[in-house]
Amino acid sequence: MSAFIARLTDALGPKGVSTDAHEIDPHISDWRGRWKGSTPVLVKPASTGEVSAAMTLCAEYGLAVNPQGGNSGMVNGSVPQGEVLISLKRMNKVREVDVLNDAMTLEAGVILTRAQEIASENNRLFPLSLGAQGVAMIGGLISTNAGGVQVLRYGMMRDLVLGIEAVLPDGKIWNGLRGLRKDNTGYDLKHLFIGAEGTLGVVTAATLKLFPRPAVKETAWVTVASPAKAVELLMLAKQASGGAVTGFEIVPDLGLKLVLKHIPDTRDPLPTALPWRVLMELSLPREEGGRDLLETLLADAIEKEIVADAVICETEAQKALVWKIRENIAVAERAHGKALKHDVSVPVSRVAEFMERGAELMRRMNPGAELIAFGHVGDGNIHFNITPPPGTDQDRFVEQEGLPLSKAVHDLIASLNGSISAEHGIGRLKRDELAWRKSPVEMEMMRAVKRALDPDGRMNPGRVL
Ligand SMILES: Cc1cc2nc3c(=O)[nH]c(=O)nc-3n(C[C@H](O)[C@H](O)[C@H](O)COP(=O)(O)OP(=O)(O)OC[C@H]3O[C@@H](n4cnc5c(N)ncnc54)[C@H](O)[C@@H]3O)c2cc1C
Repeated sequence: MSAFIARLTDALGPKGVSTDAHEIDPHISDWRGRWKGSTPVLVKPASTGEVSAAMTLCAEYGLAVNPQGGNSGMVNGSVPQGEVLISLKRMNKVREVDVLNDAMTLEAGVILTRAQEIASENNRLFPLSLGAQGVAMIGGLISTNAGGVQVLRYGMMRDLVLGIEAVLPDGKIWNGLRGLRKDNTGYDLKHLFIGAEGTLGVVTAATLKLFPRPAVKETAWVTVASPAKAVELLMLAKQASGGAVTGFEIVPDLGLKLVLKHIPDTRDPLPTALPWRVLMELSLPREEGGRDLLETLLADAIEKEIVADAVICETEAQKALVWKIRENIAVAERAHGKALKHDVSVPVSRVAEFMERGAELMRRMNPGAELIAFGHVGDGNIHFNITPPPGTDQDRFVEQEGLPLSKAVHDLIASLNGSISAEHGIGRLKRDELAWRKSPVEMEMMRAVKRALDPDGRMNPGRVL
């Protein structure tokens, strides 16, 4: 290992390599503190050439590699387990903004909030938006095919990527940075790297789609009696607004209470005894008429008894408050304690059925456990999280006692033709389950792709496959 580190330092310079335990420490555990790992060396390349040099050396020494972005992943993929850790954080340059092509090319270490700012500075929108946007990086977002709160209008990260540059396990550089919207020249290889969770190579840069900035965003905080009513509201809003709904998030009573308890400067925008709230956002190309549209839509929903009550955000501060509540549910839940987490999706038409049957399962199998089911109703993705019954050993519940309940929730998802990982990925956490949930044909195709690109199995071993 010392000969490898010496050659690495020759190639990347002292800034690019660290064995300092103090510097390495934040990189070897996940954000929830659930998993702890180790690495012999932290590599911090500043260019694609340096990533290539590091990967070539890893190949020569037969060393496994773990790429890392913001380390905000939820499935134990970014925490190294003895591999060489390659952090992309120094690769944070803007390579190009092509306004006429509505595209920007960024390096993998650009943080999502910075990507949004770059778009905004060019009078464009980069729509990806999620709770970890202050730390998650372009390379990690691509590698997990991140979702977030705007998917129903703009799609997942996969839908926002035009081209990719990646370094392969043997150190070769693939420049696929094409800003094309049409390109039918054989296999579209970028899609292999999107959602691959670092198992096929290191993403070093990407060309991303930009969109017109909406002139106005109208936002409402709505109380509803059930998830079924929330889905009815979604349908009504999509029809009435001509597809202008960009955010549609469900917030349960307990999720709101935890945010109010743990997150400073928050308050309940519309106190109610009802168990569910919806945060609804419309993005419109003109200021005129937007408020009327939202008011009419909500009045109609109240008259049809879909919505119980609603408040329209009058100021930017009010909009910021409702989004702060929504985006801090996961953070508040962490402050509350451990939870069985299920990042699942079903067709939107089956969200209400899933929520009802899932809650019933929980009550039957673990009475006393509490449900925090929240998230992206607009695209069928619910974070169906279950906290242990009061007084239960949290670790034991999450690692042992709660597992039959988790399996039952995923069985229910399978019966509804849903996914056991809507947006967080597989990592090490769901690897074993993936192997028996997917069909043998699908698993064999995935293994064949892995063998073709990473024949020695050195990229993120133990993740996904
Ligand atoms: C509070 C909170 C809220 C969140 N909300 C959402 C949400 O709404 N939607 C959502 O989809 N996710 C969400 N996440 C999960 C997480 O933010 C995403 O998975 C994100 O895409 C991870 O980006 P990252 O840069 O932190 O990647 P990391 O966590 O560093 O890595 C994730 C995976 O990608 C691999 N990887 C990282 N960079 C590269 C690269 N350059 N090349 C190849 N492989 C790489 C890693 O090895 C790992 O397997 C949330 C997380 C938190 C903490």
